Amino acid sequence: MTRVEPKKTSDRLSQRLRSSGFRFTPQRQHVYDVLLQKRDHPTAEEVFIRAKGGMPDISMATVYNCLDTLVQSGLARQVTVDRGATRFCPNMREHCHFYCDVCAQVFDIGLTGEAPAGIALPRGFKAARFEIAIHGTCAGCSKNGAH
Ligand SMILES: [Zn+2]
Ligand SMILES: [Zn+2]
Repeated sequence: MTRVEPKKTSDRLSQRLRSSGFRFTPQRQHVYDVLLQKRDHPTAEEVFIRAKGGMPDISMATVYNCLDTLVQSGLARQVTVDRGATRFCPNMREHCHFYCDVCAQVFDIGLTGEAPAGIALPRGFKAARFEIAIHGTCAGCSKNGAH
């Protein structure tokens, strides 16, 4: 596993929090680190379980609060998969999500900023951002002959 350089992320985090009117707290740092460590789009509950590993007395309410703050500061985004609980993604670059129907993993798919192929915007419409959901079978599951 690649270790995230702690100094750099905490600088970026405290700057981001401050410019959004939030205080830097060790809990917010910890929850952000948890998000960055494994980018598999965890739910708040999964973040809570992972966060407890390094900070045993962190509460679910605190984790919710931290996630909310990170979303409001533009450091993470909420991803809603139909039927499922809200998941969290620290990738703030333009991307959409690929949902594997077999293993239920969520993958980041980069977007170029141009209208992706297959999307025909009507004349005069300008896209600012995309929220596209792609459903299918990921490479690993396709190889296993699941479909
Ligand atoms: Zn899969
Ligand atoms: Zn994502």
